[in-house]
Amino acid sequence: MISSLATPFVPLRTLKSLKRKDGTEVVYRVPRRANQRAYGFCVHTSGSGVATRAAIFARNGKNPAQDTPEEVAIWCYSALWSYFTTYLIVNSGKLYAICDEDLRAPHAGFTDPTHRGLCLSGAWRQVCSPAGVRLWDARWPGRKSPAHLYPSRNPNEDFISVELVPLLKADATGSLFTPAQYGTLGRLIKDVQTRHGKVVLGHEDLNPFSGKHGRWDRSGGWDPGALRARPYFDWARVVV
Ligand SMILES: [Zn+2]
Repeated sequence: MISSLATPFVPLRTLKSLKRKDGTEVVYRVPRRANQRAYGFCVHTSGSGVATRAAIFARNGKNPAQDTPEEVAIWCYSALWSYFTTYLIVNSGKLYAICDEDLRAPHAGFTDPTHRGLCLSGAWRQVCSPAGVRLWDARWPGRKSPAHLYPSRNPNEDFISVELVPLLKADATGSLFTPAQYGTLGRLIKDVQTRHGKVVLGHEDLNPFSGKHGRWDRSGGWDPGALRARPYFDWARVVV
């Protein structure tokens, strides 16, 4: 529940529903298991989408109210996209709450129905990036697959989540995220863990596939980018 968050935050308009082009309505007020603790916490980045979109807006002089990565991210996650996370941390380290922790934010899960089967059968190791598989095994020793990292069939049910808006270019350390973002992320995770389970992972740990809805490329994971030889994201900088 947002009201119990001790970390300073700005509440965003909670999405209640989205009208599709065909007239049907997707209702987002789907509770997770009522009053139950989430299993853990999942960290995301949108990749370069938000930062690139902001740069294009700024260059074209369009949408003056939406021309910083922060404003573009808020717009994307509160109005434009049909998927979103529980929280959002922008480059300045400011924290936004998109929806209540007891709602099921549509932030992860396999959109390709064959992917869960590939994980359960073990065949994912043959079709996913070998470099990524090696790093995944090192991070999750003895675990069978991404689908074995959570108890239900749906990670949206099991994880509270946050979106980190990336920098357009990595800094000198190779990081796509600012020290302020790492600081806020650590405080947020600690805060969320007072109410929910202790497991912390990235979207790339849950979805090893490449392509449209996958979270890996040839070098490994990019969401948020820790599972690669030259990481974009460093778990060691998240002090909980
Ligand atoms: Zn993600």
